[in-house]
Amino acid sequence: MKKLNRSSLQLTAGMGVVLLLAGLCIAAPQPQIRKQPFGTTTEKKPVDLYTLTNTNGVEVSIMTYGGIVVSLKVPDRKGKLQEVTLGYDSLDGYLKNNSPYFGALIGRYGNRIGKGKFSLGGREYRLATNNGESHLHGGVRGFDKAVWKPTEVRGQKSVGLKLDYVSADGEEGYPGALTVTVVYTLSNDSELKIDYAATTTKDTIVNLTNHAYFNLGADANILKHQVMINADRFTPISEAFIPTGELRSVKGTPMDFTTLTAIGARINQKDEQLIRGNGYDHNWVINRKDGSLSLAARVEEPTSGRVLEVLTTEPGVQFYTGNFLDGTIKGKAGKVYQQRAGLCLETQHFPDSPNHPNFPSTVLKPGEKYATTTVYKFSTK
Ligand code: BGC
Repeated sequence: MKKLNRSSLQLTAGMGVVLLLAGLCIAAPQPQIRKQPFGTTTEKKPVDLYTLTNTNGVEVSIMTYGGIVVSLKVPDRKGKLQEVTLGYDSLDGYLKNNSPYFGALIGRYGNRIGKGKFSLGGREYRLATNNGESHLHGGVRGFDKAVWKPTEVRGQKSVGLKLDYVSADGEEGYPGALTVTVVYTLSNDSELKIDYAATTTKDTIVNLTNHAYFNLGADANILKHQVMINADRFTPISEAFIPTGELRSVKGTPMDFTTLTAIGARINQKDEQLIRGNGYDHNWVINRKDGSLSLAARVEEPTSGRVLEVLTTEPGVQFYTGNFLDGTIKGKAGKVYQQRAGLCLETQHFPDSPNHPNFPSTVLKPGEKYATTTVYKFSTK
C-alpha cells in the first residue's frame, strides 16, 4: 500500500473537513420566507402574503392587510400537518365578510372601552363605538383593517416579518400619532413570537394584541380541548361585557382553569358570568411577579396530541371560546364555523383599563416606548 507522507495526510484531512462542511451547508435545512401577491383592498392598495416556514415544517402565512395570520399549520403527534387557525382562504373573504377579527392584529386597544369614553390629562376623549355603546378592538377601522409596511427578517434559526404602521393623530378618536411596529418571528423551536412596539406624539392609551382563533384538532368545536390558565383571579363583567372593576378569585367557580380542564366540562353551567359572556369571554389576571415573559396558558388537544403554550409579558389574557360564531361564516376550505369552532387567547392589558384606576395602566406618553411580547409555542404530547 502506498504510504502517505505527513503533508499529504494533512491535505487529505483538510479536504475532508471542507467536503464535510460543504455537505452540511447543502443538507442543513434553513427556515424560509416566501412572498406572494394576495390581491388588492377596496381602495386598490396591493396586499402581500408572507409565508414563514421552519425546519420542522411549521408554516405560518401573514398578510400585510391587518397583519392577519391567514394560515398556521403545525404537526400532530404523528407529524401530520394541519391548519390550526380559523379564517378565510382569500383576501376577499376578509374584505367582503364581517370577519370576527380572525388572526388579526388588534389596536389601538384590544377589547372594550365602556361607552367609548375615557379621560386623560383632565380631558375627555370620545372613541368610535362599534359594539353597542362600547368601543371594541380599536373601533370601526382598527389596525386589523390597515395595510402594514412589511420587511423580511432573516435569522440563523428563525425567520420573521416586521410590520410598520403609523396611526394618525385622532384616528378612531385617539389622541397622538402612534408609530407601531409588530414583528412576527417563527423559530425552529416552533415558537411564533410577536413583539409589539409603539411610540406616541401625545399622551395616549395603547393595548395591542392578536386575535387568532385556534382549533388544534379535527372536531367542529373546541369543547374537548383542555385548557390551563395560570391565573387565580379574573375580571368579572357587566351585562355589557365591561369589567366591573373587581379582581375576583376563580376558586370554586367554572372560571378556575388553574389545572388542565376540558372547555366543555363547565361551559353550560348556570353561572352568572358564563351566562353574561355567552360562554367564556373574560380577562384572566395572570399570576406573575414582574413583566418578564412567563406562561399564561396551555392548551392540549387530546386526539391529535397538539399542545399550545402561550407566554407573555402582559398582565392579562382574554379567553374567548368563539361564542358568537353561529354557522353563518364559511371559512377555509369551505368549513362552516359553528359556535365554539375556535378559541382565542388574547394577551393584553385588562379591558376598559382607562376607566379603572386600580387596573395596570395603559397610558403611553411621548418619549416612552411601549413594548410587549407574546409567544405561541407548539409541541405535541
Ligand atoms: C371579545 C368578544 C368579541 C370577539 C369579537 C373577543 O376578543 O372578547 O366579546 O365578540 O372578540 O370577535
